[in-house]
Amino acid sequence: MPFSLKHKLVIGVASSALFDLTESHSVYLTRGVADYRKFQREHENDVLARGIAFGLIQRLLSLNGESEQDRVVEVILLSRNDPDTGLRVLNSMKPNGLDITRAVFVSGGNPCIFLKAFDASLFLSANEHDVKSAISQNLPAGRVFPTEFVDDDEPELRVAFDFDGVITDDSAELVFQFGGGLKAFQQMEIENATVVHPLGPLFPFFAKLAELHERETALKEKDSKYKRKLRIAIVTARNAPAHERVVRSLRAWGINVDDAFFLGGIEKARVLEVYRPHIFFDDQVGHIEGAARVAPCAHVPFGASNEAAKKLQEFGELISSAPVVGELNAQGDGEKNKK
Ligand SMILES: [Mg+2]
Repeated sequence: MPFSLKHKLVIGVASSALFDLTESHSVYLTRGVADYRKFQREHENDVLARGIAFGLIQRLLSLNGESEQDRVVEVILLSRNDPDTGLRVLNSMKPNGLDITRAVFVSGGNPCIFLKAFDASLFLSANEHDVKSAISQNLPAGRVFPTEFVDDDEPELRVAFDFDGVITDDSAELVFQFGGGLKAFQQMEIENATVVHPLGPLFPFFAKLAELHERETALKEKDSKYKRKLRIAIVTARNAPAHERVVRSLRAWGINVDDAFFLGGIEKARVLEVYRPHIFFDDQVGHIEGAARVAPCAHVPFGASNEAAKKLQEFGELISSAPVVGELNAQGDGEKNKK
């Protein structure tokens, strides 16, 4: 019978998220593919240092029990390398204590397209293009950001989620950003407080993680000495009265989280610095940039606000490449002088 992943939490992780590839990536960028291949071969037994998502992946794997039935988490390496240059990455798993044996190498392609083949509910990578491509194909993904976070190697895993645009869709966020601001948003949330929120890009991962959380509750009930390993938090800019719909949606999904922060616009980094999550997911780069100083973060480039940001960026590039007024006048004068 084939090995089934159906009832497990499956995560696809790129080597750029799992390990620190600064040195080899620099060789690739500055000296090209041939030198990169040579460099990787020469260093194939040099164990790679831990990357941004390492603490998360290590702790998720620690939720696995001994028996196959208790093996509840599966992590698959999804790599842009080919098998030759990727050998160093696989060689770095065991010495780093990671039980990761399955891998996909696609020689420069985007490995995210294989997420469904593995029933994966999350793809983590440092590659902006790959993550954007995944989200545009309705695949759950996050782009990890560099962080100054120092892991303390405590066994507890803390995972923190923004709510709108991550666990749920961006329908409420749209009202806030483009449909009348805070007042209109709060009015809509009061009117829809009992309406379960439509689901967002990372809901499958959130729900699977919540199943593991429930499993821990059952283990604790069986054995009072069992020490829980997983905490889940929601860290959102919402505050009362917009908090009620969050709570009612969680009830409807049958999901309990340990912690919730309804911040009403207070900078998320302030609570994340204290909470010390091993990953925080948010759909807005503005929140991620502040939070990434204090915690490993993943940007989920989903929804209308990211589309608007992309259009603004394109517009900015268009403006910066256009001739400035002085140049236009000079051109105009030139035209005049021709006459
Ligand atoms: Mg959001």
